[in-house]
Amino acid sequence: MTALKPSWVASANSADTPFPLNNLPYGVFSTDGTSPRCGVAIGDLVLDLAAMEGDGLLDCNGALQTGSWNAFMAQGKDAWARLRAQLTAMLAEGSADQSRLTGYLVPLAQAKLHMPISVTEYTDFYAGRNHAFNVGSMFRGPENALPPNWLHIPIGYNGRASSVVVSGTPVVRPNGQIKGANEDVPRFGPSQRFDLELEMGAIVGQPSSGQITVAEAFDNIFGYVLLNDWSARDIQAWEYQPLGPFQAKATATTISPWIVTAAALEPFRTSTPEREKPLLDYLAEPGPMLYDIALEVAIAPAGKGETIISRTNYREMYYSAAQQLAHHTTSGCPMRVGDLLGSGTISGPTKESRGSLLELSWGGKEPLTLNTGETRTFIEDGDTLTLRGVAKGDGYQIGFGDCAGQLVAARPLRT
Ligand code: MN
Repeated sequence: MTALKPSWVASANSADTPFPLNNLPYGVFSTDGTSPRCGVAIGDLVLDLAAMEGDGLLDCNGALQTGSWNAFMAQGKDAWARLRAQLTAMLAEGSADQSRLTGYLVPLAQAKLHMPISVTEYTDFYAGRNHAFNVGSMFRGPENALPPNWLHIPIGYNGRASSVVVSGTPVVRPNGQIKGANEDVPRFGPSQRFDLELEMGAIVGQPSSGQITVAEAFDNIFGYVLLNDWSARDIQAWEYQPLGPFQAKATATTISPWIVTAAALEPFRTSTPEREKPLLDYLAEPGPMLYDIALEVAIAPAGKGETIISRTNYREMYYSAAQQLAHHTTSGCPMRVGDLLGSGTISGPTKESRGSLLELSWGGKEPLTLNTGETRTFIEDGDTLTLRGVAKGDGYQIGFGDCAGQLVAARPLRT
């Protein structure tokens, strides 16, 4: 386990900052009246990389002037390593660059954060063993919980890039077509079982055409974000057969604002859990490709304090993002820079570590009691859901920034 890398930015040296020098996560920010621009978080500050490149202190061929990280990602691994090495040296304790960098630092508290990438495509997987078992148990009983393909294929569906939003964006309760178990005909109305899904998102930083191996897929992943796959369970239950989720998952997907690079997460690599059935060779992991990242979910009713409703870890996933990406390409499906892959809901083995309200309230049958004394089965209007993640090092930690969204009331029905 590596130790804290000391920086001349004092706030980056505390054991509980999410953004020590070891992290250097990339985001897009603006301050009053300025256009969104590329930056890196360090302690409680943002370093304005766009301005630094504009003044000739960095050279990424203009990629940092674009208000998104896509152009930089497209430059490839050597460029990724070069910028990280440069920033690490410039921000390190004792660096000769301290005096000329001070003017490029902005307090995080004054920065508005934007989407860090332009999402070109979005795919969401279903690769958490405990989540698949819990959901399957509710619908089909524990004997038939896992579909027969589940231990062989990372199951996924093609989602909507257009609905991916950055943390802090309000989410409007969807209207949809719903048919209750005891109803003869469907009706159109607001979802009454609106839910979150605690996931990690992997960002593809290099294009591919044709099949790539798991090792190549690992190399093509630029970094990771927290991801909330908001899900309307009642809409989903009626629409999902036979082609899978559609409108139930198309309202919004929230991501955390900072891309934590694969390079920053390198010390936290861990293997996927033991295989219950051997995988086909093309899906075998050539090394540890999952990460040890502690995760939590908090819910806060409007204007009230929050309650942590789940604590789990990314290492619970049965398939890594590299395995998912490799599988995604077997058909010849081209992948593009800015492709976003949702991991699937990350539920641990215990009740307290379930990553959705569907599981936490067991289909709405077991309401949770919050610190405020209120109870919840699914999300109420005004509730804010926040995901947090942290990889814990020796005297430091790598954080992602909150992945939060408040649910607002449904829009009037249009007929
Ligand atoms: Mn999902």
